[in-house]
Amino acid sequence: MKRSILWFRNDLRLHDNEALLDALKHNEEIIPVYVFDDRFFKSKTKFGFEKTGAARKRFIAECVQDLRQNLKKLSTNLYVREGLTEEIIPEIARQYKTSYVYCNRDRTQEEVDMQDALEKSLWSIGQEMRYYRGKMLYYTADLPFPVTHCPDQFTPFRKEVEKFVKIRSPLVEPTENIKPLSEELEEGEIPYLSSNNCNNTHDKGLYQSGGETEGRKLLNKYIWTDQSIVEYKQLRNNLLGDSFSSKFSSYLSQGCLSPKLIYDEIKRFESERVSNESTYWLVFQLLWRDYFRFIAKKHGNKIFYKKGIKGKPLRNKLYSNKVLFDKWAQGMTGIPFVDANMRELNATGYMSNRGRQNVASFLVHDMHLNWLMGAEYFESKLIDYDPCTNYGNWNYIAGVGTDPRQDRYFNLPFQVKKYDPKAEYIRYWLPELEEAPLDFLVNPFSRPDVTKSAAFDYPQPCVHIKNWT
Ligand SMILES: Cc1cc2nc3c(=O)[nH]c(=O)nc-3n(C[C@H](O)[C@H](O)[C@H](O)COP(=O)(O)OP(=O)(O)OC[C@H]3O[C@@H](n4cnc5c(N)ncnc54)[C@H](O)[C@@H]3O)c2cc1C
Repeated sequence: MKRSILWFRNDLRLHDNEALLDALKHNEEIIPVYVFDDRFFKSKTKFGFEKTGAARKRFIAECVQDLRQNLKKLSTNLYVREGLTEEIIPEIARQYKTSYVYCNRDRTQEEVDMQDALEKSLWSIGQEMRYYRGKMLYYTADLPFPVTHCPDQFTPFRKEVEKFVKIRSPLVEPTENIKPLSEELEEGEIPYLSSNNCNNTHDKGLYQSGGETEGRKLLNKYIWTDQSIVEYKQLRNNLLGDSFSSKFSSYLSQGCLSPKLIYDEIKRFESERVSNESTYWLVFQLLWRDYFRFIAKKHGNKIFYKKGIKGKPLRNKLYSNKVLFDKWAQGMTGIPFVDANMRELNATGYMSNRGRQNVASFLVHDMHLNWLMGAEYFESKLIDYDPCTNYGNWNYIAGVGTDPRQDRYFNLPFQVKKYDPKAEYIRYWLPELEEAPLDFLVNPFSRPDVTKSAAFDYPQPCVHIKNWT
């Protein structure tokens, strides 16, 4: 009898899952497995942050739980373990005499290291891996250029793929029962499910439950029920609330939603209801996601280096000053817009794209801190953390990526006036500044007297920024 392992990673879904479908096609029995690998759940980043912070741990655990429930509905199960993948999976393979390990392939270094370690262990017991694709809208094989020649800038990339490549339809999901494993295997407990460590008490802060079921509900709500997509382009730079942008990112990062399914739904909505600039713009943003993945594939580990993809000396020296950095990370810089965004991130694991751009620019260009510290902090805290998107965006803002402009400087007082003109967002996340005057919230240097008042328990700005005064 042919039996194989199906190793789930950040593809925690039944729909549009190439590895799952092929495993079912070629085997009489499959053993679906998820490993909470110590590399990601019990280790630290180079600057000492938890590699996966509490909010993402909880979110992933819920994704795993949901997948288990959905597999159980098809009569099978998801076997969950904690430890090192290259030890756990070969042990199951040996004990249950499987033939192959099926999985969707990853391309970034740490994920590849884990994949390679597993492959090596499997070879030692005479078994092999079978790799599959499906994280993006576009398949590498369909690109009109070899991935090594992927345009370094977004616009030519977008224009070429849009012109020459048709996005494939998502693969169907299995609906028939899957033969359960004919031998005993303990299903294993799912760790990190307790939400005690990340209760969200902020009514306007994002709180998402993980899993394909929730992801699909959100997709349906955002596009069909609420039709929020119709106004996406106008609203996407807002800061407060949960429907100014799609909030698909966390589901995309764990693979609970396939980008091809989102694309398909947008196209269906356009043909059955409305097609406008906003519906296109959501696809445009998904193209950014693909673009950063292809750039990572082309440039490899350079996206993780301080000099980035460009590899040239930095224009300004960047320091790894831990004391200053902690003020940024804790939302205590004394710059209200930065602090509001960082407090939101710390409380919820989410921050808007506008917020991310601003706090990243402030860290690099105003605080002159090493951008890698910021990127690692995001890696730890974000529930939607994705290596290519996170490091790609940080490269971009730090001016070490593929952006033709030297660096992306965000003038914060200008940004607040434009995107939070009444400072509603700032006041929400910084309740201690509820009574503070608007001009102080826009630009703390315009009213240095304010924080001297005993009424405000709020720090002085941690750096002086000449061009705001
Ligand atoms: C410094 C920095 C770090 C970031 N780190 C991450 C990260 O780790 N994970 C992550 O998913 N996004 C990251 N982003 C991109 C972006 O901020 C988030 O994808 C977005 O805010 C998620 O909210 P949403 O799903 O409502 O986005 P929407 O505006 O609804 O966009 C829809 C989808 O398009 C994609 N997208 C949107 N903006 C970008 C972008 N700038 N780059 C690439 N893809 C994009 C995402 O998949 C998103 O879910 C980062 C941006 C910056 C500036």
